Amino acid sequence: MSDHYERVKIELQQMKAVESEAAADKEQLSPASVTSVPAEVSFAARRDLSRSSINGRSRSKSRSKADGHERQVNGKQLSDLTPQKSDYSQEKGQSRLSNEQNIKGTLRLLKGKTAANGHVESCQREKDLKCEHHGKEDGSKVAKKRRAVTVDTSKAKTSLEALKMSIRQLKWKEFPMGRRTACDIYWHGVSFHDNENIVSGQVNKFPGMIEMLRKINLSRAVRTMQELFPEEYNFYPRSWILPEEYQLFSTQIRLLKDNDSTLKPTFIVKPDSGSQGDGIYLIRDPADLRVISGSQIKQAVVQEYIQKPLLIDKLKFDIRLYVLVRSLEPLEIYIAKEGLSRFCTEPYQEPSQKNLSHVFMHLTNYSLNVHSGNFVHSDSCSTGSKRTFSSVLYRIASKGVDIKKVWSDIIALVIKTVIALVPELKVYYQADIPPGKPGPTCFQILGFDILLMKNLKPVLLEVNANPSMRIEHEQEVSPGVYEYVPSPVDEEVKVGVIRDTLRLMDPAQRNQHVTSNTEGGSPEDAIVVETGSDEKESLTDSLPSLCLKQVFPKYTKQFNYLRVVERIAAIFLRFLGVKGTMRLGPTGFRTFIRNCKLSNSSFSMASVDILYIDITRRWAGMLPDSREAGMSLQAFIEAFFYLAARRFKAVLLREQVLLLLEVCEGALEGQSHSEKPRPQRSHPTQSSAPNAFSSPALTRRHHLRHQPLQLSAKANTEN
Ligand code: ADP
Repeated sequence: MSDHYERVKIELQQMKAVESEAAADKEQLSPASVTSVPAEVSFAARRDLSRSSINGRSRSKSRSKADGHERQVNGKQLSDLTPQKSDYSQEKGQSRLSNEQNIKGTLRLLKGKTAANGHVESCQREKDLKCEHHGKEDGSKVAKKRRAVTVDTSKAKTSLEALKMSIRQLKWKEFPMGRRTACDIYWHGVSFHDNENIVSGQVNKFPGMIEMLRKINLSRAVRTMQELFPEEYNFYPRSWILPEEYQLFSTQIRLLKDNDSTLKPTFIVKPDSGSQGDGIYLIRDPADLRVISGSQIKQAVVQEYIQKPLLIDKLKFDIRLYVLVRSLEPLEIYIAKEGLSRFCTEPYQEPSQKNLSHVFMHLTNYSLNVHSGNFVHSDSCSTGSKRTFSSVLYRIASKGVDIKKVWSDIIALVIKTVIALVPELKVYYQADIPPGKPGPTCFQILGFDILLMKNLKPVLLEVNANPSMRIEHEQEVSPGVYEYVPSPVDEEVKVGVIRDTLRLMDPAQRNQHVTSNTEGGSPEDAIVVETGSDEKESLTDSLPSLCLKQVFPKYTKQFNYLRVVERIAAIFLRFLGVKGTMRLGPTGFRTFIRNCKLSNSSFSMASVDILYIDITRRWAGMLPDSREAGMSLQAFIEAFFYLAARRFKAVLLREQVLLLLEVCEGALEGQSHSEKPRPQRSHPTQSSAPNAFSSPALTRRHHLRHQPLQLSAKANTEN
């Protein structure tokens, strides 16, 4: 660890030097504007702050409960998967041939590690040195070729440290106080709006991403997809939105229990805008819901609790995967080959009335578990309470698990989730950056939280718009006194993700044409197929290979048929206009009906108005914090589903919707020919979602609201 400290200290000094150089740069903002920049943007000041102790920090309530439990947990007990061994090097000698392929696959994931000896231990120091060495050789070459890419880091907040390291490795130019003239890239810590009035370049946040990823909105977006594609979207636990679905939830659970008295489902209640486990609790009966807080009804999601997670060392863990949405139009998604696994600190037991409140047993949040006396900080990536995902894959591969399948299921989960989010993101995008007006383009790193069930099926827990990019962690140096110290595991994963995101967003790179792999290939290939050669050639070849793997458009062929709602959104956007609004007025809705030729003798314009009022009013009640009046995209989708079901009676919802889309797109296309051509620039709201669908056979009745309730808790027991 002392080596690591030395290295970090040197890096900090170098970074401070770079910062003071940058501060002296005459392109910086004037001193007058600098004073208005919050103190946190100063790296030195921030560092001092982060070093300061947190005295008498209040602990989580459940701490005392967990303290009463067995302390010896991490790395000391045997895994459920590894009943005899805890050390991989011991296991290696005995692993069977069939496992070797899996392990080989895992090795491909272990970027920058000495795979030959089979060790999972981090080779971070060695890798960094290699990287620095290459960086030196490379810097001058790049400088000769073209000017350094400029990055405004003034709003980077907690990602600042990892960002600085990345910029340094790339030999790019940082502007920690902002810049009078435009930068190529703006790095925001929270939202698209952290810096207003950006008219060019690229911003690392999409407008509306925070809103879309709040628990209720994510559940709604996934649910819409579940209505159309129930089997494809069964990776998200059954959820109810509170307070509006309280009655539905109570009734369904009562019926479920009446039908099968052996069932003992558990539910997890999550406040809508909560994070880091705040306000989360488990219940076994709807009557235990704490729906009211003061005089207010709490907005929350209540979700089926996954009772049988995969355990390692008897502990529940989840996976944090970093996903880059590089562009909405065309849709481009990358997944980081390396992620983090966050472990609970109390051995897992299936939920019972007695252990429901044991947060260190049921919740994997780092921010909670770090306050357990059992939390293990480790310099190794394969032990402790926070490990690399590849070390976990390694561990399970050595037990014969088909990790290629696990990885491909995870890729599918990620692509499907992003496909569910894109329609509404396009509405936000058009409202903030109307086509034809100057504005930046956007990209964003998302944090996917995924749980592996005992049967290895990945389950989506949530998606974070602002995943923590901190590379230090809090450590208790003496009782009640905490300090921030470097965390090698975080550094290994997060610096790679930021650096490679920057590499992909390099303006020279970005101008290159993105090709879709029309051959398709299966997501399973992702584990063995390295970065496409077109990416490789154009990137600085002396840096480590990209840790971000393109999965879309690479797997367009397998997933494009799911992009149905995006086509509905394209119609919505067309009638919304470009006035910065997100709601369709009654006239816009009427024009949609008229232009798509949807009204006839049995569906008059008066009925159209009633439909508009009915649906819009109901959705206004469900989106109480919305400031705009009119029909939201979600409400429009509901109207579209209704119109589809009304027109095409005897078929499935998905088929009805596809048929109505064809009618609408056909009618609108006819009109487009007689209109002026639209601007050439590809804007995220000009849909590239396919018009022709190569969808698999449409054979199921699947309107979710009419489906019998089945919980995976039950399905689990059958696996
Ligand atoms: P937060 O944003 O507050 O972290 P999450 O949805 O990530 O909320 O939930 C917190 C933790 O609770 C997760 O990290 C996971 O350990 C656990 N958890 C969440 N949802 C479920 C679920 N449906 N089944 C089992 N565990 C869950």
